[in-house]
Amino acid sequence: MTPAAVQLERAEAVIGGRSIWRDVSLTVGEGEFVSVLGPNGAGKSTLLKAILGLLPLAAGRAEVLGDRPGAHNERIGYLPQRHGFDSSTRVRGADLVRLGLDGGRWGVPLPSWLPGVNGSHAAGARVREVIELVGAGSYAHRSIGDLSGGEQQRLLIAAALVRRPRLLILDEPLDSLDLPNQSTVAALLQRICRSERVAVRLVAHDVNPIQPYLDRVVYFAGGAAAAGRPEEVISSQTLSRLYGVPIEVLRASDGRLVVVGQPEAPHVHTERHA
Ligand code: ADP
Ligand code: MG
Repeated sequence: MTPAAVQLERAEAVIGGRSIWRDVSLTVGEGEFVSVLGPNGAGKSTLLKAILGLLPLAAGRAEVLGDRPGAHNERIGYLPQRHGFDSSTRVRGADLVRLGLDGGRWGVPLPSWLPGVNGSHAAGARVREVIELVGAGSYAHRSIGDLSGGEQQRLLIAAALVRRPRLLILDEPLDSLDLPNQSTVAALLQRICRSERVAVRLVAHDVNPIQPYLDRVVYFAGGAAAAGRPEEVISSQTLSRLYGVPIEVLRASDGRLVVVGQPEAPHVHTERHA
């Protein structure tokens, strides 16, 4: 069996003496498309920090790409939570993607096994390849500040992919996009997940645009998390247990999930996009 991309066992995260979540166990297989869900402040970004080894666990254990968190960050593509570039950003899209290869985001030299690291010709070919992969060929020569949110996001995904990561981690990549773009970017990520055999972990507010593409869900609430298949986790029973209050998950006639009774602002259904 190939090692899991990410494995947590009874893990606890503590920030500033406060437990953010505890007793979290989950496994993400190689090449799986996983979404991390839950209300603001539930600890979704904290999970990503733990996976990257930026926050040591207070309890339990974690294994990432078969090793301790942080040991193989050069094989992880990471897209932090962000807001759009403003229109004064004069960097070309293709140069942004190229930075993913040369920028040394983690301050580590390029791995020698990476095809195309020896010589700028091959590096240029890899940059063009990922630009085609995300469908950004027609606008990659333009300044990033002039592009739409969806176009910017595709180029950022290309930059995170250029080193051929085994694990791609995206923190709320759909948040600034309109609903049609959320769906197309989610579909794109699933396609990349399958064709490049890269495990994808995506933090999202709203499960609906990504629901058709998901293999697994990790839902954070009430200082704990539930992990599993989407229909198991996003259920009245599981969410009621997590939140500690009665929650009802309804399926609308068009297939959208609507979560009723959350103690905090609703983050799973699509109301905020209306
Ligand atoms: P989410 O991504 O689900 O919105 P986070 O993982 O960012 O939530 O944060 C979880 C909790 O940890 C929040 O209550 C947040 O305020 C707190 N937190 C995160 N980072 C820090 C920090 N550097 N210092 C203090 N508290 C923090
Ligand atoms: Mg966050």
